[in-house]
Amino acid sequence: MRNCKRCGGANPEVHLGYAKLSLCFECFKEFYERKVRETILKYKMLGEKERVLVAVSGGKDSGALLFVLRRLFPKLSITALHINMGIPTYSEECESKFRELVRMVDVDSIVYDVRRELGIVVPDFLKTVYAGRICSPCSTLKRYLMNRIAWENGFTKLATGHNLDDTVEVLFNLYLQGDVLQLIRLKPVLPSTHPKLVAKIKPLIEMTEEENFFYAQANGIPVKGGKCPFAGESRSQERKRGTISAIEKEIRGFKHLFFSSHVKRLLPALERNVELPTLRECEKCGMPSTESLCAFCRRVEIARKAY
Ligand code: AMP
Ligand code: ZN
Repeated sequence: MRNCKRCGGANPEVHLGYAKLSLCFECFKEFYERKVRETILKYKMLGEKERVLVAVSGGKDSGALLFVLRRLFPKLSITALHINMGIPTYSEECESKFRELVRMVDVDSIVYDVRRELGIVVPDFLKTVYAGRICSPCSTLKRYLMNRIAWENGFTKLATGHNLDDTVEVLFNLYLQGDVLQLIRLKPVLPSTHPKLVAKIKPLIEMTEEENFFYAQANGIPVKGGKCPFAGESRSQERKRGTISAIEKEIRGFKHLFFSSHVKRLLPALERNVELPTLRECEKCGMPSTESLCAFCRRVEIARKAY
């Protein structure tokens, strides 16, 4: 029988596959919090007098993020943001977990409801050209709204709960496609490149999905389990996920290594050779865009026409 590697206690609850490490909940919390603090310091994610908007979906990753930020920085100005995308049952449950968590950690919060504010909901895209790939307009809407809400309310940083596993999967795809413009955006800190673009930070980018799951469990963080009803994974996506796990089994620490090589070695070289597209302001909403109408306004228009 195994014991906690730190305190020697019997029956540790946490078993981390990648590190071959078993820890009890109390030792794991310390381990997790130290790692997140190191990531934040290493990438200089937070400076003096920051006002941080933390985007919380109701899932385990961003739930763990809000909780750990409050724990590590009790004096930091933190507001939690939730966007209700109007997906029947699912969005209501996510919002209710969000409200529960906000009460638990005791931070200010903003709930943005797309039905109320925009008069559209994500299922409206089922009647458009986006039927079959509804995650695409949903994430465009979310990304835009997170930034706009952060900018309009004077936040200095927008924090999201992206984890290592999701990041490596996206990296894998981008390298396969050679999508350099997207690759250079995939980093722990995305500085602001326009007065209306708020700097983005990903404090959990070095934490695995498993670690976030255990941290949420160890702290009793309210979390909406299960996937979004529209998140049907394609066969090829499933295969890629399986392939990455198989590589990790053969090469221990593969995901960590792939990510750190990307950030430390490849990004600086890529960034030197890429010219960023020039930004103008969207004719409709005034937010930064590469085209006359921004991606958000175009998609909202498409959803409204679906009626
Ligand atoms: P995803 O693209 O769903 O993996 O989400 C990435 C990150 O975006 C999450 O970790 C959250 O920080 C944020 N996020 C996703 N959905 C929402 C939402 N409905 N409301 C607020 N933040 C969200
Ligand atoms: Zn616009």
